[in-house]
Amino acid sequence: MNETCDRCGPSVLAAVRAERAERALYLCRHCGNRLWPALTAHGWTIWPAGEHAFAPQAT
Ligand SMILES: [Zn+2]
Repeated sequence: MNETCDRCGPSVLAAVRAERAERALYLCRHCGNRLWPALTAHGWTIWPAGEHAFAPQAT
């Protein structure tokens, strides 16, 4: 998992993933916190970018 923030550019690792319909948006923690209310208000679903599986992963 090495997605980067779509707002900050490739130098910032993404911390959250937002999805709506067939679109996906990756955001760092800072951008995620800032955009969370607007995104959820527009129907986006947001969750931690690393949590693709239910099993916990060592970091
Ligand atoms: Zn960012």
